[in-house]
Amino acid sequence: MVYSTNNFFQKLGPGLFAIILLCSFLWHRAEDEQSQAQLRSAEKILSTLSLEDKIGEMTQLTVDMISVGDPFKLKEPHELDEKKLKYVLVDLKVGSILNCGGHAYSRKHWHKIIGRMQEIATTEKESGIPILYGIDAIHGTNYTLDATLFPQQIALAATWNPDLAFNQGKVTAYETRASAIPWTFSPVLDIGRDPRWPRFWETFGEDVLLARKMGEALVKGYQGESIADQHSVAACLKHFLGYSVTMTGKDRTQAWIPPRFIEEYFVPVFQEGIDAGAATVMINSGEINGIPVHCNPEILQTLLRDQMGFKGVAVSDWEDIKYLHTRHKVAASYKEAIGMAINAGIDMSMVPIDTEFPVLLKQLVEEGVVPITRIDESVQRILQLKIDLGLFENTHHKYEDYPDFASEKHRLESLEAARESITLLKNDKDILPLNPQKKILLCGPTANSLNYLNGGWTNTWQGTDTIYNEAKKLTVAQAMKQDFNNMKFLPGSSLDELQSIDEIVKAAHEAEVTVVCLGEGTYTEKPGDLDDLDLPEAQLELVRRIAETGTNIVLLLIQGRPRIVQSIEPLCSAAVLAYLPGNEGAQAITEVLLGKVNPSGKLPFTYPRFSNSLLTYDHKHTDRVSRTFDFSAFNPQWQFGHGLSYTKFQYSEPRLSSDRLSKSNEITVEVEVTNVGSMPGKETVQLYVSDEYASITPSVKRLRAFEKINLNAGESKLVKFSIKADDLAFVNKHNQWCVEEGDFSLHIDKHSKSFTYI
Ligand code: BGC
Repeated sequence: MVYSTNNFFQKLGPGLFAIILLCSFLWHRAEDEQSQAQLRSAEKILSTLSLEDKIGEMTQLTVDMISVGDPFKLKEPHELDEKKLKYVLVDLKVGSILNCGGHAYSRKHWHKIIGRMQEIATTEKESGIPILYGIDAIHGTNYTLDATLFPQQIALAATWNPDLAFNQGKVTAYETRASAIPWTFSPVLDIGRDPRWPRFWETFGEDVLLARKMGEALVKGYQGESIADQHSVAACLKHFLGYSVTMTGKDRTQAWIPPRFIEEYFVPVFQEGIDAGAATVMINSGEINGIPVHCNPEILQTLLRDQMGFKGVAVSDWEDIKYLHTRHKVAASYKEAIGMAINAGIDMSMVPIDTEFPVLLKQLVEEGVVPITRIDESVQRILQLKIDLGLFENTHHKYEDYPDFASEKHRLESLEAARESITLLKNDKDILPLNPQKKILLCGPTANSLNYLNGGWTNTWQGTDTIYNEAKKLTVAQAMKQDFNNMKFLPGSSLDELQSIDEIVKAAHEAEVTVVCLGEGTYTEKPGDLDDLDLPEAQLELVRRIAETGTNIVLLLIQGRPRIVQSIEPLCSAAVLAYLPGNEGAQAITEVLLGKVNPSGKLPFTYPRFSNSLLTYDHKHTDRVSRTFDFSAFNPQWQFGHGLSYTKFQYSEPRLSSDRLSKSNEITVEVEVTNVGSMPGKETVQLYVSDEYASITPSVKRLRAFEKINLNAGESKLVKFSIKADDLAFVNKHNQWCVEEGDFSLHIDKHSKSFTYI
């Protein structure tokens, strides 16, 4: 049976109903009047613009194009080129600039260069429209020197704590605006279903509900009550949509995604971001089912605008309109590509390194290939965004007005997120926490790098350069040295080569515990493409050689995607996953190893055991059928949602208010969780539901609710969830959301309960 939204108003008395109706009418009228007024002014500005002005507004270039030097080879120290600046902003009337010309700048420099751009745009350009500067501030304001750097999204997801995402968004917005920039290209709402993908760590992991809740909180943190506020920025949901599931696992390669999967797994996460008010979206660089998204009106118009109701600005990704011609080969020329993309619904082209775009687009309008109505629609959206950001009143504020930039308060927000993200995967015989007096050997290629803790998009695109690092931020080796009195540090290997192994083996013989830090270097996008998900052989060999000494091994993984560790995991007594925890990561890791912080991270993805068995937790029943025809084929290293604590939590049997759910009745689920250990701890209570039989093969289970709680030793808490019919919905063979009558089971911890939907 197809489920449709229940009208609860029917149940209210007629009087109350009338009052509610009146209030809602007045409220909506006030809202309408307000948005009408804003629309009028965007319309008014639009009516004064020439075609060149309009096309300029739709053009976004990288700052390299207005700087001294050649793009990607700029003169150092960075300087704007006055001649180029005037050509781009005044002659071409370019309305938006992005990126950082290679590396992070000081706040002072950002203010100087953006101030100059705004001065030229508002005083020398005929329209006087301010420019819109955009930046990838994806884990803090990572292109401003000394800004507060947070954990990357995958780590943030492991906290299962949307409040931390909200705080991260708020601090990032503050520090980004403090850098004179009002627009961030974040969050990534592509879900991380394939751990091979080099941008896996930029996602909130594999689950729709978790990604929805974290994404919503981050958007709200970025945008605050109003993006006009000098402490808020416009968010950009990216990369709309289906970017993360290429067939090969490699970046920007072909994806084949059935519409039902798009609707059920991708749309809800972006919808949550849109409903949270996100001002902009960025389009997926890839192709889906043979059609590049940048020229697909079914995605850019029918889905994004008509179905999902998005009203803001859709910006292309980097050079993606040109790639329709040069890479995707669906357009025979750059000009044809521009026509296809703009007609499909792109509002702004992140060109970003040629000046042909505005020239060609103007020709296309004059030739009647792109209707002026399409141009007007996009320009109106862009103007509206500039109005909403308050740029017409104040292009940017003084950086002295941001006393909390990189403050201790902001650092503590980052530290807290890192603490809550760290995930204890294994802890045999309670080897952790470690006594600081113990004789410890610390080794491994990720132990002494601040860059590896931060990952890509840190001061530079790939995050590899060390010269921009904040001097006082610590690596794991430096942080542990401060607390462990009897610790020796020897690297033992680079990421893919063993070094001084005999010395390491000797030191391991003498150590009571050896902490081995493995994982990945920094990367994002294409440069992060992978041929083998296994950890490099040198790292595995390091563990094997150390294990031969009989020392206890604590495996510490600093990595953006789950690299395969099955061959060495049995050799380790404990395993800790730190993801990419950011600048405060080393302190957080040390506190967890010492037991000053009780770990509470839970995996936001399924940690695979083998690189040819990459299943998500919500796989189908057939995925479980093994070679011997039992249901044991799903055998990951660690399950989605897994994460140990130094204390123990006991769950009561869940109590359901009814064993029947209907369209009009929700079920309340209550479960009592008790901390039966001796340490305070945080626990994420996860509620899963299995649809026993359905017209579309059901997933074995789906996460339907979660809540993170804090419990002192001995304390109990009653956690309540309510399950509504639409929480169980899936997309049927007609591509419609539905709930089918029948039996369901609900799972919390090790307990299961059945109920029926009627
Ligand atoms: C990435 C985007 C990013 C943009 C601007 C592209 O290469 O795919 O995520 O926002 O560059 O830097």
